[in-house]
Amino acid sequence: MARILITGGAGFIGSHLCESFLDRGDEVLCMDNFSTGARENVADFLSHPRFTFVDHNVTGYLQVDGPIDAILHFASPASPVDYMDMPIQTLKVGSIGTHNALGLAKAKNARFLLASTSEVYGDPLERPQKEDYWGNVNPIGPRGVYDEAKRFAEALTMAYHRSHGLNTRIVRIFNTYGPRMRINDGRVVPNFIRQALQGEPLTVYGTGEQTRSFLYIEDLIRGLHRLLEVEYHQPVNLGNPHETTVLQFAQRILALTGSKSSIVFRPLPEDDPRVRQPDITRAEEKLGWEPHVQLDEGLSRTIDYFRGRLQGSTP
Ligand code: UDP
Repeated sequence: MARILITGGAGFIGSHLCESFLDRGDEVLCMDNFSTGARENVADFLSHPRFTFVDHNVTGYLQVDGPIDAILHFASPASPVDYMDMPIQTLKVGSIGTHNALGLAKAKNARFLLASTSEVYGDPLERPQKEDYWGNVNPIGPRGVYDEAKRFAEALTMAYHRSHGLNTRIVRIFNTYGPRMRINDGRVVPNFIRQALQGEPLTVYGTGEQTRSFLYIEDLIRGLHRLLEVEYHQPVNLGNPHETTVLQFAQRILALTGSKSSIVFRPLPEDDPRVRQPDITRAEEKLGWEPHVQLDEGLSRTIDYFRGRLQGSTP
């Protein structure tokens, strides 16, 4: 049995991670300050004997008693709407929060996994994006608070690896979706599903020709566990290489929900990346990983979840 600390453990990805480690028989310390996470995401685990919730902001000094085998640093706003609403907190959690989490990992001689992001590639000039692409980021644009915080977090993680020999991992997570996303987090998946289910128009930003690739949460969690198992310290993309335009995605949501909602076009947010598609060759070679869940299957499960939320019951 291992003792695992997950920062941002009450968030969308964090809560699925908590659940996966509990299922494996490990002990989980879940840290969150609910800035974008939600109490109900971890409500089912609170009575679990191997689960402890720590209400703490990771940008404050971290003190955890006892041994820790691994720290997974997932605390951060991740929706563009959230990080543009909380620009300074986003910069602090990616910089000071990562420093604190790395310092704790060093003190406990724990493995450290950084949740980084496809946003480190900015508005990429290469497609698909390989890990050796350095990116095209506007440091002072509205998204820069997230992109640069994560780029700094990667630099700091590599510095701890090189200078202190810390056993680190960096995952660059591409658009991921599934149950426990916040219905009003502003991202395209919850927005379109909620709009479709409530009979409101689907708000496509720009012309809808920009592309994204959507990974189902279950596939991501499997990839994260594989990454922790292998000795590999360079960044690894985890995402679904199947690319779709935002407009096609809106049409898919309408078809899967059976909704009669219309599609309306709204201004494209500043610096919204025009393309995003992971090259997952590295994950295939180093982790033996590739996504399994088809988009329609994952979306159907996610739609069921949101339908339950909107009806006031969590399925
Ligand atoms: N988007 C959209 N309508 C919405 C929300 C988002 O057309 O209601 C677009 C957004 O402009 C972007 C894509 O969908 O091109 C994905 O946006 P999201 O906020 O999910 O995250 P991002 O991939 O930009 O980090």
